[in-house]
Amino acid sequence: MADNHEETLFSKIIRKEIPADIVFEDDDCLCFRDIQPVAPVHVLLIPKRCIPRLADVDEADQPLLGKLMGKVPAITKLLGIEDAFRLVVNSGAGACQTVFHLHLHIIGGRSLGWPPG
Ligand code: 5GP
Repeated sequence: MADNHEETLFSKIIRKEIPADIVFEDDDCLCFRDIQPVAPVHVLLIPKRCIPRLADVDEADQPLLGKLMGKVPAITKLLGIEDAFRLVVNSGAGACQTVFHLHLHIIGGRSLGWPPG
């Protein structure tokens, strides 16, 4: 997406202007429960710096993405789903991305079928 939209509702969650059930936060990322969970555990892990879509990531973003992915084991452990969980990234409207601030869906707490559909 050429349009580098910085302002989404996730920006407001980061700034605590919209309430969210935050499960983890550090200088670079925020993790909070999805408002419409698709499983007993469904959180969104986002970088605080807005990258609209996974497709927009460039080489300079790779350390941040590595950090985000590297937080997943600790967060899933915190949530008690470390033995079985799924990560989903929707990239682009055609893949049902609705908030254009890159986020990892971390989903668990029930048995997860495959293929996901
Ligand atoms: P996407 O469809 O872009 O991959 O995922 C966006 C996610 O954000 C959806 O699962 C949706 O339920 C969640 N979401 C939308 N608005 C809010 C909100 O105001 N608060 C929280 N916690 N989650 C939201």
